[in-house]
Amino acid sequence: MTLRLDAPAAAREHCAATRDKGTRWGFVPTMGALHEGHLALVRRAKRECGTVCVSVFVNPLQFNDPRDLERYPRDFEGDVRLLSSAGCDMVFTGTLEQFFPEAQGAPQAIRSVDPGPAALGLEGALRPGHFTGVATIVERLFDFVRPECAYFGAKDYQQTLVVRHVARVRGGPRIVVCPTERAPDGLALSSRNALLEPSWRERAPAIHRALLAAREAWRGESLRAAPELARRMHAVLAQSGLSVEYAALRDPEAWTEADPRGALSRAVALIAARAGGVRLIDNLRLDAE
Ligand code: AMP
Repeated sequence: MTLRLDAPAAAREHCAATRDKGTRWGFVPTMGALHEGHLALVRRAKRECGTVCVSVFVNPLQFNDPRDLERYPRDFEGDVRLLSSAGCDMVFTGTLEQFFPEAQGAPQAIRSVDPGPAALGLEGALRPGHFTGVATIVERLFDFVRPECAYFGAKDYQQTLVVRHVARVRGGPRIVVCPTERAPDGLALSSRNALLEPSWRERAPAIHRALLAAREAWRGESLRAAPELARRMHAVLAQSGLSVEYAALRDPEAWTEADPRGALSRAVALIAARAGGVRLIDNLRLDAE
C-alpha cells in the first residue's frame, strides 16, 4: 500500500520521522499523468534505496506557456494506483501555496533558485524562466523530503544538468539519471503523448529516427562536426511534417549556450519539435554503446 499525503508539510513530517528511525528515502519528483518512464524511476529507487517516495505536482513556476499548463494531463487517482503497483511507499501532492507558504499566495514573492549555466541555450532559450522554475521547485522538494538519492530521467537532458547543479550547490542529494523509456516505435514516453491526435502520434517517432540517424553518422563515417550531424537530423525530420524548434548537438561534459564548433569528441543530440500543438523533446548520447 502506498501512503498518500495531500499536503507537502505532512510529507515533510513523515520523512523526518521515518528518517530518525533510519529510513533512507529514494525520491522521484514528477508532474503526474504517470507512465512506464516514471515507474522505471520508481522501481530503480525502490531497488537501490529500499524506500521510495514520489511527488506529483504540476509546477506552475516552470510553465512559460499558460495554455500548456492548463491542458497538461492530470490523473492523481490513476497515479496513486500505478504507484501502488510499482512498490512506491509514499506519494504526496500539494498546491503552490502549500509548497511556498512564505509567499502568502503571491507567486512573484517566491525566492527564485539559480538554475546554473546549463539553463542557457536550447530549452532555456525557448522557454524563458522554465529552468528557474525547475530549480526553485526541486530545491523546495529536496528540502521537504531530504532524500538520500533523487531519480531523474535522461529524456529531459538539460534538466538533469540543472538538477545536478542545484544538488551540488546545496550539498545533496545524490542524483541518479535513468535511461529514457520508449514506446516500441521509439517515441520517448511522455505525459504529453496523451494529447497527440492519432495522425501526429504516427509521425512523432521521426524524432527518435532523426536521433538514430545522427548516431549512425557518428559511428559510420567519423562525421563528427555539429552542423553536419544536425543536417542529418533535419533531413529526417523534414519528411515528418513535425515543426522543428531545434535539432542540435552539445558536448555532454561541457554544456555551451551555442552550438559547439569543430570536431566533437563526445556528443549528445537533442531535438524539440511540435507535433500538432504538442511540444515533444528527446535526446540521444551519440558516443555511448
Ligand atoms: P515529468 O512528470 O515529465 O516532470 O517527469 C518526471 C521525471 O520522469 C523526470 O525526471 C523525467 O525526466 C522522467 N521521465 C519522463 N519521461 C521519461 C521517460 N520516457 N523515460 C525515463 N524517464 C522519464
